[in-house]
Amino acid sequence: MKDKNVILLGPPASGKGTQARQLAGYLGVPCLGTGKLLRDEIERETAVGLEAKGYIEGGSYVPDAVILAMVESWLGENVDGWLMDGFPRTIPQAEALQESAIPPSRVIVLDVPRGDLELRITRRRECTGCGVTFAVDHLDEVICPDCKTPTLVSRADDALDSFKVRYENYEELTVPLFDYYEGLGMLDRVDGTQSPDEVFAEILKLVGG
Ligand code: AMP
Repeated sequence: MKDKNVILLGPPASGKGTQARQLAGYLGVPCLGTGKLLRDEIERETAVGLEAKGYIEGGSYVPDAVILAMVESWLGENVDGWLMDGFPRTIPQAEALQESAIPPSRVIVLDVPRGDLELRITRRRECTGCGVTFAVDHLDEVICPDCKTPTLVSRADDALDSFKVRYENYEELTVPLFDYYEGLGMLDRVDGTQSPDEVFAEILKLVGG
């Protein structure tokens, strides 16, 4: 039996987004990327977007209450299973998900050392056309490999200063989730320094693929 409700955890630029897209397709479930959802809210200048903007650009976590309201409304429309990329990131968020109609069945951590993450951050680009995030081979690349429009940009929160804050938040607020999910018997770890295909193959073994 394949796991249906999977959480991917990992530090910024550990490859969660890339793996999440692929895994959601494989499992046939919708993927919730809270970071992507927040960036859309900012772009549309909604009340949530205006509140979240300062936190995100400085590298801080957005307050739990804002995230939980957003996730609750998304979960209400996706009741048949899901994949989580970037949620939960704090113990209160994990506890709220545990009490929801569909709690997680498996939690997979992508382990990547900090030095590798800083290198990856400088190569990460987002397509403002189709929203896909990936690593470029050349720092001046602007054409999206997926939708082919010349709209690749660096994310504002990928500046090195913001990255440092994001990493510190990850260690302080998200790493405690490892013990939380270990205690529930659903935590697995994957070496995220391998190639994306190798990481995906390991994830598939874990989810019963
Ligand atoms: P991501 O695209 O997952 O790297 O998220 C980008 C940014 O959005 C993070 O650095 C946080 O500022 C914010 N964010 C995304 N998801 C959450 C969450 N579950 N809790 C708090 N902040 C979040």
